[in-house]
Amino acid sequence: MTNYHNLTLNWLYLDINSYFATVEQHHNPLYRNKPLIVVPLDSDTTCAIAASAEAKKLGVKTGTNVGKAKQMIPDLICVKSNHDKYREYHHRILKEIDRHIYIDDILSIDECAGRLTGKFQLKQNAVELAHKIKKGIINNIGDNIKCSIGIAPNRFLAKVATEIEKLDGLVVLEGNDLPQKLYSLNLRSLTGIGASTYTRLLSHGISSVEGLCSKDASFLKKAFGNIVGEKYYYLLRGCNVPEEKKDTKSIGNSQVLPPEMRNPENAYEVAKRLLHTATSRLREKEFYANGMNLELGLANKSSLKSYQKLHSLCDNFSLGDKMQSMWNSLINNQTNLNIKKISISFVNLTKQKNDQLALFDNNPDCNLKEKNKLEQISKLMDKINKKEGKNIISLGMTRNKNEQADAIAFSSI
Ligand SMILES: [Mg+2]
Repeated sequence: MTNYHNLTLNWLYLDINSYFATVEQHHNPLYRNKPLIVVPLDSDTTCAIAASAEAKKLGVKTGTNVGKAKQMIPDLICVKSNHDKYREYHHRILKEIDRHIYIDDILSIDECAGRLTGKFQLKQNAVELAHKIKKGIINNIGDNIKCSIGIAPNRFLAKVATEIEKLDGLVVLEGNDLPQKLYSLNLRSLTGIGASTYTRLLSHGISSVEGLCSKDASFLKKAFGNIVGEKYYYLLRGCNVPEEKKDTKSIGNSQVLPPEMRNPENAYEVAKRLLHTATSRLREKEFYANGMNLELGLANKSSLKSYQKLHSLCDNFSLGDKMQSMWNSLINNQTNLNIKKISISFVNLTKQKNDQLALFDNNPDCNLKEKNKLEQISKLMDKINKKEGKNIISLGMTRNKNEQADAIAFSSI
């Protein structure tokens, strides 16, 4: 028998419900209490990237094909995604939460967690704190912005607790609640159990959370196929397993193109915009890139890939030049390419410029004076864009206002 008792409450986890859809409903009161989905582009062949609680009740969720969703809900509202708006609300919501609890971890655009200390480790006080946070968001950000809060001995279980009650939930998992309070959950709703792990677990006779909780650490290690299984054993029992330190490995941007933008000429305009956003994120996080990937996914399911080594760059101009030459070599004058998706990512990120390279290298990227100047200009562009709205200034690109799916930030917020 495992001793689940004597566990203290150490973590509070918060997950905004149906985040993108909620922000859209907040922004436009006419959308409130109505089934709504957020879509990346204006097309029935794409998928919903978020669904409001009302849409979810009618069976439409993230990933549902838009055409199918419209059949299921004839009066469904479809809103094109606006990630700048979602980022703006993300920061506002964090600022509000920060008034109540120190935020230790930001897990995604709509999830964060903080450690409980002192008197807040007592259930009653932790619950009171959770109510205050919920009320703060409702009063100061938007009265339809609801969240699920989980309180538990470790961060893993606190997140699991947010899954137990999805809409405006508040669930505390204490020692006495473990493990039976987890049994109502689906295995797939646990962090780290994706499709392939799920299949592995099934093949080891584990098909429910109850089954998972009944196995010992060495069995789970075998069932998962790696050390994560063993870690899971302890996480489920409320232990605080040290986190592996996660570094930002890459910063990037990608987009699926609407059909009319898939020829190389139009696609390049999209690529420039993606690059521009990614480079400003690079500067926002104070990183320099030492490598860049450009991948063009073609409609025939093949892809063209290029990698370019860089010498600690973060300015729009140098990176724009690099992308142009990568693009030209990939396209190689083929005018009939059907480019469905563009992905750009910066890798080998460093906080410091690799200035010592300049001593050994005649590469023009290493002309420090010039480099600093370009960085300063780029930062100034960021400042103006931030103040005046996005992409007021960019690098000589024509923005066609009628097209273009909004790009999704995939590695940073
Ligand atoms: Mg959420």
